Amino acid sequence: MAAEVHPKPQARKPVLLSKIEASQDVVNTAVIIPKEDGVISVSEDRTVRIWLKRDSGQYWPSVYHTMPAPCSCMYFNPETRRLSVGMDNGTVSDFILSEDYNKMTPAATYQAHQGRVTVVLFVLEMEWVLSTGQDKTFTWHCSESGQRLGSYRTTAWVSGLQYPTRGGSLRHTNNNNECGQTSKLVQTHLPSTPKHPCANPCVRDYYTGVGCSYKGVMAEKVQGLCYAPHTRQLISCSSDGGIVIWNMDVRRQETPEWLDSDSCQKCEQPFFWNFKQMWDSKKIGLRQHHCRKCGQAVCGKCSSRRSTIPLMGFEFEVRVCDSCYESITDEDRAPTATFHDSKHGIVYMHYEPTRGWLLTSGVDKVIKLWDMTPVVS
Ligand SMILES: [Zn+2]
Ligand SMILES: [Zn+2]
Repeated sequence: MAAEVHPKPQARKPVLLSKIEASQDVVNTAVIIPKEDGVISVSEDRTVRIWLKRDSGQYWPSVYHTMPAPCSCMYFNPETRRLSVGMDNGTVSDFILSEDYNKMTPAATYQAHQGRVTVVLFVLEMEWVLSTGQDKTFTWHCSESGQRLGSYRTTAWVSGLQYPTRGGSLRHTNNNNECGQTSKLVQTHLPSTPKHPCANPCVRDYYTGVGCSYKGVMAEKVQGLCYAPHTRQLISCSSDGGIVIWNMDVRRQETPEWLDSDSCQKCEQPFFWNFKQMWDSKKIGLRQHHCRKCGQAVCGKCSSRRSTIPLMGFEFEVRVCDSCYESITDEDRAPTATFHDSKHGIVYMHYEPTRGWLLTSGVDKVIKLWDMTPVVS
C-alpha cells in the first residue's frame, strides 16, 4: 500500500536577496533605487555610498563620498536624482547624481539646524527642502535659490515626516511616539501649499492604527512603517529584528481598559490585598490578572485559557477569561498579520513597491535586501 503523501505547505516568507556589509558604522538611511539594481546609503561613519550590483551578483560602491559629519538621514528623489543628506552637525547638503549613478555633484548646502538633522525631505512641486532637527525646529529651504523660507518650532523633535502625494496634509511622528498631522502648520506657515479638499483616508488609517491600536502588540520599538497600497498591507519593522506584515483590510477593535477590582469579577474570590474579605471568608487571597478581551480583573483559575485575538491586534496568545475564551470562534482566531525574523536589529527600512523589495539596515552595520513578493501579495 502506497504511503499517503501529505505535501507540507511551504511557509511563505521574505527571501533574503543580498547583504551589503562594508560600513564602519550604522547605516542610518538607505534606499533602493527604483528601476536600477542599486542602493544609496548614508552612515554614521560619515560616508554617502551608491552601491550597484555587479556581474558577480555582489553590490560594490560606484560612489564613496565622505561628508564633514556623521550622516543622520537622507532623501532621494528619483525623478531629478536629487539626493539630500542631513548631518549630525545640523547641515543639509544636496547632490545631483549622474544618470549612470557613477558620480554625484554638490548642488547646495543649507545651515538648517542647531543640532542633528532627524528628517529631510525634498518636495519637487515646490522645490522645497524640508527638514527637522533635534533642535526641535522644522525648516524649509528653496532648493533653487538655497534661501531659507521659514522655520517652525515643534513640541518634540520630529522623527518621521511624510509629504502627501495625493492630497492630505503633512504627517509627522515625534520622539514622544505621537503621530500627528501638521495640517495647521502647512496651512498657516507654508503659504503656497495648494489646498487639498480631502485627506487620504487609507494612509491616515494606517498611521493612527499603528500609533494607537497596536501599541500593546509590539514589544519592541517600531523602527519603520511602509504601506503597500496595491495589496493594502502595512509592513512594520522593530528593533528586535521583527518584520510584521499587517492586513489593513481588517477593521480592528480597540483593546479594553483594565478594570479595577478587589476580588475576581468572575468567582468573587478576594485578591491578596483584600484583607477584610480574606478574613471574613477565611480564604487566602489570589493574584490578580486581566482578561485581554473584556478587561475584567480575574483570578488565575477563571482565566486559565489563552487565545489569540487578531482583531484586537493580539496575534500571539494572551490571557483571556473563560467566558471570553468560549466566545472567540476559530474564524476570530484567523491571523491578520504574519511575522518574520530579519535576524538583525533594524534601525531603518525602505520598501520599493514596483519590484516588491524591502531594504533593512541593522545595528550590525549590514544592509539586507529582501524579496517581499511571497508575503506582500
Ligand atoms: Zn476567579
Ligand atoms: Zn473576558
